[in-house]
Amino acid sequence: MSTRFRYESASPDPFWIGTVSTPFRAVSLKQDATCDLAIVGGGFSGLWSALKAREQFPDASIVLLEGGCIGNAASGRNGGFCAPSISHGVSNAVARWPQEAETLVRLGRENLDGLEQDLQTYAIDGGFERSGKLNVAATPWQVDGLRAMQQTYARFGIETTFLEGAALDARFNTPRYQAGLYEPNYALVNPARLVDGLAKACVARGVEIYEDTQVTALTNRNDSIVLTTAQAVVKAQKVILATNAAVPLLRRLRPAILPIWDYSLMSEPLSDAQLAAIGWQDRYGIADSGNQFHYFRKTQDNRILWGGYDAVYYYGSNRDPNLTERSETYRRLEQNFFDAFPALEGIGFTHRWGGIIDTSARLTAFAGTAMQGRMAYAMGFTGQGVSATRFGALTMLDLLAGRDTERTRLKMLRSTPVPFPPEPLRHWMVKRAQADLAREDETGERSLVLRTLDRLRIGFGS
Ligand SMILES: Cc1cc2nc3c(=O)[nH]c(=O)nc-3n(C[C@H](O)[C@H](O)[C@H](O)COP(=O)(O)OP(=O)(O)OC[C@H]3O[C@@H](n4cnc5c(N)ncnc54)[C@H](O)[C@@H]3O)c2cc1C
Repeated sequence: MSTRFRYESASPDPFWIGTVSTPFRAVSLKQDATCDLAIVGGGFSGLWSALKAREQFPDASIVLLEGGCIGNAASGRNGGFCAPSISHGVSNAVARWPQEAETLVRLGRENLDGLEQDLQTYAIDGGFERSGKLNVAATPWQVDGLRAMQQTYARFGIETTFLEGAALDARFNTPRYQAGLYEPNYALVNPARLVDGLAKACVARGVEIYEDTQVTALTNRNDSIVLTTAQAVVKAQKVILATNAAVPLLRRLRPAILPIWDYSLMSEPLSDAQLAAIGWQDRYGIADSGNQFHYFRKTQDNRILWGGYDAVYYYGSNRDPNLTERSETYRRLEQNFFDAFPALEGIGFTHRWGGIIDTSARLTAFAGTAMQGRMAYAMGFTGQGVSATRFGALTMLDLLAGRDTERTRLKMLRSTPVPFPPEPLRHWMVKRAQADLAREDETGERSLVLRTLDRLRIGFGS
C-alpha cells in the first residue's frame, strides 16, 4: 500500500539512538544517598557538569539524577550543529551585548576548541567533525542579510567565503538558494554518541548516574540541599540544576523559558549519484536564512537530516511527549525538502521526531545561584546548546565555587532575560510574533510588533 507522504512510513524515534552500539544504561536510585555535588538532568549540561566537576574536584562524591534516560531530551534529539558560539551567533551578541561582544565571540571559539580537546582527552567518539557551515539565502533580502553577516563576522576576524552563481553550484546546487556564506570554523557531532561517551567517561571516573529518577523537590536545609525522588532522597552539599526545557524546579525561573517544539526528518542514505545531483560533496552542515529556517546536514552514512522551520508553541507550555507526532509539521518539512531538492524525488524518510527547545527571550543561556549559593543553574540555550552547554556547565561550577571568572562576569549569563507573560497572553504573543516573522520571510518587511519587541529586547526564535 502506498502512502501519501513518505514521512508516514518513517520510524517515530530520533535516528541518532540507533547509531550507538552499546548504549549507556543505569539503574534508578533506590536508597538514600549523600554527596558533595548532586546534578539534576542527564543531557549535555548535566554530563559536562559532572565531568568538569570531576576534573576540578578529584575527591568529590558526585551523583547525577536523570528523570528518564540519559539524552532522552534535547541532547539526544538535536541536529548536532556544534557552534563556535555561546551567544546564539555573533549577530545576537552584537545586537544585545555590544560592549561584551568581542569577549563572547572569543569565548565561543575557545569553548569549541576546548570541547574538541576534551573529546580527545577522554577518547569520546562523539562524531565530532569540524566540517564548516554553509548559510544559504533564498530571497534577495536574505542575500543582503548574508552580506551584512559577512561584514559583522569580518569585524571579529571570522573567516567566511561569499558564494554565488557557479561558485555556489560547485558546493551546493539546488534551484532554491541564490547565495551562500561559508564559515569553515563550525563543527558537527553525533548527539547520541556524544551523550553516550560523556556518560561513560563520567562513570569511569566515579560519578554515580541514576536513570528513571525524577527529582520532585529541592529543599534547602541549614547544612545541605535535600533532593526528593520517588524512592529515595539525596542529601547534597551543592546542586546543579541542568533541566533545560523541563518545568524548572526553582519556581522563579519558570517565566524565563518557553518550551518550543522543533521537528526533524531523516532521509534514506543518498547514493553518490544523488549527492552529485545536488552538488553537496563536502560534509559541512547547511542552514537557510529565514526567520523560519531549516537546518540540514549529512550523517556518517550520507543521509540528510532535515529539521526546523516550524517552531511550535503549544498553549499552556504543553510538554506532553505525544506532541512529538505532528503530521502538519512533518508534511510541511517533507514538502519543503522536495522543493529544495527536486533531484531527490523518490527518496524516502526513515525517521521522524520532535524535541523541546528552552527558548529564552534573548536566545541565550542565563545562569545564577539560589539557596545561599549552594545551587547553580544554567538554562535558556534556545536552539544552540550543543556546544554552549559545556560553557554553561563550567559557569555553574565557577558559581558554586564562588570563583570570580571571565565567565561569571558576563552580563549575558548573569542577567535574567525578560520573563514571558502568563497565559492566555503568552500564547497570543507567540502566535502573533510567529505570524509576523513568517510575513517578514515573505516580504522582507519587519512589522511594528516585531520592531517593538526588538526595542524591548524580546526575541523569539529557535
Ligand atoms: C529538535 C532539536 C534540534 C536541535 N538542534 C540543535 C543543533 O543542531 N545545535 C545546537 O547547538 N543545539 C540544538 N538544539 C538545542 C540543544 O539540543 C540543547 O540546547 C541542549 O541539548 C540542551 O542540553 P541540556 O543538557 O541543557 O538539556 P536536555 O538535553 O534537555 O537535558 C535535560 C535533562 O534533564 C532531565 N530532567 C528534567 N527535569 C528533571 C527532574 N526534575 N529530575 C530529573 N531529571 C530531570 C530531562 O529528562 C533531560 O534529560 C536542538 C534542540 C532540539 C529539541
